[in-house]
Amino acid sequence: MTTRERVETVTASALSLRGVVKRYGEITAVDGLDLTVTAGTCLGLLGPNGAGKSTTMRLITAQTRADAGEIEVLGFRVPRESKRARTAMGVVPQLDNLDEELTARQNLEVFAHLYRVPRASRAEAVERALDLAQLRKRADTKTDELSGGMRRRLLIARGLVHSPRIVLLDEPTVGLDPQVRQELWALIDALRADGVTVLMSTHYIEEAERLADAVAVMSGGRVIASGTPEDLRGEHAGRDVVEYYGPPGRLAEVEAIALEAGLTTRRTGPAVSVLRAESMSEATTRRLGPGHRRVSNLEDVFVSLTGEAVE
Ligand code: ADP
Repeated sequence: MTTRERVETVTASALSLRGVVKRYGEITAVDGLDLTVTAGTCLGLLGPNGAGKSTTMRLITAQTRADAGEIEVLGFRVPRESKRARTAMGVVPQLDNLDEELTARQNLEVFAHLYRVPRASRAEAVERALDLAQLRKRADTKTDELSGGMRRRLLIARGLVHSPRIVLLDEPTVGLDPQVRQELWALIDALRADGVTVLMSTHYIEEAERLADAVAVMSGGRVIASGTPEDLRGEHAGRDVVEYYGPPGRLAEVEAIALEAGLTTRRTGPAVSVLRAESMSEATTRRLGPGHRRVSNLEDVFVSLTGEAVE
């Protein structure tokens, strides 16, 4: 590839996977995956447990090798050019693997060194990462004395210490309380405002809805739908949803009427939700009786695509 071609590719897509396959014995974790992340955008990789999200992340970082397909990060082929790809890529793992013996600052210094930040600018890079994680006051605290939220911020800052142009976040807020999650969302927002490309895996619908410019829904090792949250809603759930509440008999009746009218429904706890309610005829509306109308959301899309409920 010439330099010019490479620049053009990078402008269009910061990251691309084509026909990627990864098998573990009998299990095909990633099954012909096609995925593109446009430069400067945040793509949310959404899927239930076992969909292949983490494996996809590991393939991109060359921690594991694909059996087939092509992976390119900022114009570099992975795994062949993964060393060069890695210097431009920040990786935030799902599991906290901070060095507990070291302070927050020392953890960042180790990674600044590993990521080959030039010696002359290393101290500045570490201070910038501390600011980003809002940990300047705790810079000299040992990691095992930091709160869960602080550790998670430090883990993210560690992946950003070399000012990467693309960041991979694997389930960044899994298991965290809502307040810490909000803090991390603000941090990810700041990255996006800086023009950093973000690929984030998550099984929290709300997280994808809040942060992602585009969402790829993964199931069974491949992308089954992708687009902006708005496009996905329009395509798979319609504009409006009407929820009907009542005893089991009433819910079954709603489902039967909706089915007869060619509408899609899904159960949401004590309610039945009817998708694409804007297309409902007056006669059907009357037969269904009173319900609660709301705009559709990504969860409606997700459930109608995968048949699975998520958090
Ligand atoms: P997700 O991150 O979406 O939950 P994963 O990528 O972790 O999904 O897993 C996809 C599938 O591959 C699952 O069936 C999982 O059990 C399997 N898998 C992942 N990693 C390994 C491994 N190292 N060895 C064997 N099977 C694996």
